[in-house]
Amino acid sequence: VDARPDSNGDPTLTTALIDAVGADDVLIDADLRSGYETDWTGRYGGPSMAVIRPRTTDALAAVMRACNDHGAVVIPQAGNTGLVGGSVPPAGQESVQDSERPTVIVSMRSFDDIGPVDRDAMQVTVGAGVTLARWQAAARAAGLDAPLDFAARDSATIGGAIATNAGGSRVVRFGTMRQQVVGIEAVLADGSVVGSLSGLPKETAGMHWPSLLVGSEGTLGIVTRARLRLVPRFAHTVTAFVSLKSIGDALDLLRRLRTSGAPLDAVEVIQPEALDLVVDHLGRPSPAAPPSATGTVVIVECAANHDPTDELVATLADASIVDTAIATDPRQREAMLEFRDRMTEAIAAASTRLGTPTFKLDVAVPLSALDDLLSEAEQAALDDGCRLISFGHLAEGNIHLNHLGALDPDRIARRVLGEVARLGGTISAEHGIGRAKAAHLHLIRSADDLRAQQAIKTALDPNAILNPGVVIETRER
Ligand SMILES: Cc1cc2nc3c(=O)[nH]c(=O)nc-3n(C[C@H](O)[C@H](O)[C@H](O)COP(=O)(O)OP(=O)(O)OC[C@H]3O[C@@H](n4cnc5c(N)ncnc54)[C@H](O)[C@@H]3O)c2cc1C
Repeated sequence: VDARPDSNGDPTLTTALIDAVGADDVLIDADLRSGYETDWTGRYGGPSMAVIRPRTTDALAAVMRACNDHGAVVIPQAGNTGLVGGSVPPAGQESVQDSERPTVIVSMRSFDDIGPVDRDAMQVTVGAGVTLARWQAAARAAGLDAPLDFAARDSATIGGAIATNAGGSRVVRFGTMRQQVVGIEAVLADGSVVGSLSGLPKETAGMHWPSLLVGSEGTLGIVTRARLRLVPRFAHTVTAFVSLKSIGDALDLLRRLRTSGAPLDAVEVIQPEALDLVVDHLGRPSPAAPPSATGTVVIVECAANHDPTDELVATLADASIVDTAIATDPRQREAMLEFRDRMTEAIAAASTRLGTPTFKLDVAVPLSALDDLLSEAEQAALDDGCRLISFGHLAEGNIHLNHLGALDPDRIARRVLGEVARLGGTISAEHGIGRAKAAHLHLIRSADDLRAQQAIKTALDPNAILNPGVVIETRER
């Protein structure tokens, strides 16, 4: 390994990092670093001095002490599937101060141990670098299941999901990552190790680290391990692909599904333009007749230990529907779910064809405001001349707005996020604020609130080494 510092490196920092993790896990070569320096979208990224791959909590603590002593910026990274620029260094410098500081990426992928499943507690302790798919597989091998699922499951990690308070399709039943973390271990900026992995269902014993760290996007500490909740593995699942005339009809259906008591596991929404894109990408027709341009598609899943098909079919029979396809066979269900699961991949492929990264927003509004939000987003896309691909998690009013070929992303962001705030929504439902939306956080949080958040950050990370510019802007506004 070539451990020579590059132009913005610091020889004493490099030596301290090598002492902490060993030369093989300090990547200084530009070729070795490059895969870590750009994010999944291709929109965000910038240079680092080195990528550090600690394998133990003690080694990570030593890395943090070295970086803190040298004032080096630390970018925590794991699966690098985050969509808001929080897992990679910024392209430009966040402030004059940062331009004088070396930046290291700390990759947490080596924290990949999975402990034994505790079937009595329905919990498991896993390393922060364990992927969602491996968490699910470990739970299923013990006859249980993981409560969280989304399309990036093979790369996205527990640490990343905790840091972003990830959501996905099963939030309607089990909540977000916040509800799954019953214990946590993390390393703070000065190398202190905090938290508890006991997972006790009742405990009031001072500061609750999971509450503070979930959703903190790598700005307060680096998560090393977590104790996670598990849920039952249901014997029967039924999936319905439902084509409807309008968002209003989709919300009507959601209301019926909820009040019927059907064992809902997912309620996803796909807008017509998005359906067209994924149909082209998969090269397969829509499972049910596609809706008109003003319609929508809802994918519903119910899961239980009895067969929930009749309950679901009865609820659908009462709803105002254009067409429905229903599947219970696992392979047919899988094929149906691909129209939602492979949407982000279809958008990435379209971006590659266009030669420009897609501008993504992840927002949520009260259900009563969903129609207004979609109209405003469509108008903003029309005025920009770009193509809007929207889909999301209907039950939470969470829509992913993807602007393909956007000419003026900043203008779209100001307009759409402003409307989201006016409608009582949030500018980040599950992807996080990252660097992408830090400048807009003031739309939904007061100046007092932001000052208090900054004070907590400064107390835990006085030298601002952890992900500066993520969540809270460091630039003067
Ligand atoms: C195809 C696709 C589909 C997606 N679908 C969903 C979805 O349905 N729901 C959803 O919520 N998200 C979704 N995402 C976004 C993304 O997968 C999640 O945000 C995920 O939680 C990120 O995990 P990661 O391991 O890739 O984290 P990274 O991208 O590496 O990092 C994300 C953030 O977490 C911080 N971080 C990472 N690891 C740690 C750690 N150990 N300690 C402290 N901070 C850390 C980073 O600094 C960064 O700010 C999707 C992404 C893709 C590409």
